[in-house]
Amino acid sequence: MDDVPTNRRWALALGALTLLAASGVGLGALGLWLVTEQRPSATITAVSDGVAYQGASTDGYTVWDRNDDGQPVRWDPCRPVEFVIAPDGWPVGTRTDLELSMDRLAAASGLELSIVGETDERPSGTRLPYQPERYGERWAPVLVAWSRPGESGLGLRDVDRGLAAPVAVGADGDRSLVSGQVVFNAERDDLEPGAADRATSWRSTMLHELAHLLGLGHVQDEDELMSTFPGEGPVELGPGDRRGLAAVGAELGCRPPPPAQPVEVSPGG
Ligand SMILES: [Zn+2]
Repeated sequence: MDDVPTNRRWALALGALTLLAASGVGLGALGLWLVTEQRPSATITAVSDGVAYQGASTDGYTVWDRNDDGQPVRWDPCRPVEFVIAPDGWPVGTRTDLELSMDRLAAASGLELSIVGETDERPSGTRLPYQPERYGERWAPVLVAWSRPGESGLGLRDVDRGLAAPVAVGADGDRSLVSGQVVFNAERDDLEPGAADRATSWRSTMLHELAHLLGLGHVQDEDELMSTFPGEGPVELGPGDRRGLAAVGAELGCRPPPPAQPVEVSPGG
């Protein structure tokens, strides 16, 4: 591609933000991939999911990361956030849960969330955010799939309900979310479709993981769905969840992402 900037350093970060199990055991891992475009070497810094607390909550939410201008790393609200579905393994009723969760998050954020089709792609710890042969010359849609612990290389553990791995590209300090993966734990058959209770439902899990995908981190307040330890109660976005979704949503205006182009990810270090 002639229009690919040369000698320009790109950073790609992929965070695996996990929803803790009802047992509340352990914290998930968050990986940071730093990629240079010309030389696709990568550095992965595995740090505690506690990084999600950075810039501690003041309004009942945290964001996954911020750019140098102080704004959250976020999606462009002036185009749809596109999703593709891996159709295998969805428990009865959970496709509806996904669609209702997306509707709720779209309303709270002002973002348009759009399912654009199904795919036979599987989740992967080295999934490329640009796959023109599969998805055309655009950033790869967010992959939503069910997976078993240890299967994907994304660090999904037995105790996790799911995880989200948003992908941001751009120069350091000036990144945009452009792709990602959301994975649900196919072995957590203790959870139920619907929204009967945040501690036991897939709906609350989906809202939580999709909100990570949109740029939110964890909070400790159990009244929020972004709580690290979601307690029992109604499956409703808390006041901090709603403020956070607004903050990573449409209110800051358009944010055109870098043009889709090859970004190589090779885990290391
Ligand atoms: Zn989480």
